Amino acid sequence: MERTLVIVKPDGFARGLTGEVLRRIEAKGYTLDTLQIMTADRDRLAQHYAEHEGKPFYQPLVDFMASGPATFAIVSGHRVIEGFRAIAGATDPTAAAPGSIRGDLGRDWGLAVQQNIVHGSDSPESAEREIGIWFAQR
Ligand code: ADP
Ligand code: MG
Repeated sequence: MERTLVIVKPDGFARGLTGEVLRRIEAKGYTLDTLQIMTADRDRLAQHYAEHEGKPFYQPLVDFMASGPATFAIVSGHRVIEGFRAIAGATDPTAAAPGSIRGDLGRDWGLAVQQNIVHGSDSPESAEREIGIWFAQR
């Protein structure tokens, strides 16, 4: 079964939206394989966001992601990578469709980083790479 790494980012965690995100995942029929709450360390964030190094939002993004607890989940299901990214909505909360997590709940006004509630892996290769960064031996 395909799997993906979902993160309820520090904004979502602090706003009490972990349950809302997990509810939408479960309602769609995906399976929660592993859940862990932790504050991300910068070493692993640098690995996780390596593709964005050098972009203007990179350092604010790492600072934001290290700013407090987040919920990390391994989620599995049929075509869950594409499906969860559809549930999450477009990266920019302003453009994200109503009905999506980011469209309904995300904020980006006046912030260095789009505080868009969730992360979801973008390909099977990314998912396995990211799961390997955050979870040992899964
Ligand atoms: P996604 O999370 O939708 O896969 P990206 O991988 O492109 O998006 O970007 C990673 C994260 O970096 C985004 O979720 C968002 O928090 C932040 N980000 C991306 N692009 C910008 C931007 N232009 N300005 C501010 N923050 C951004
Ligand atoms: Mg991405």
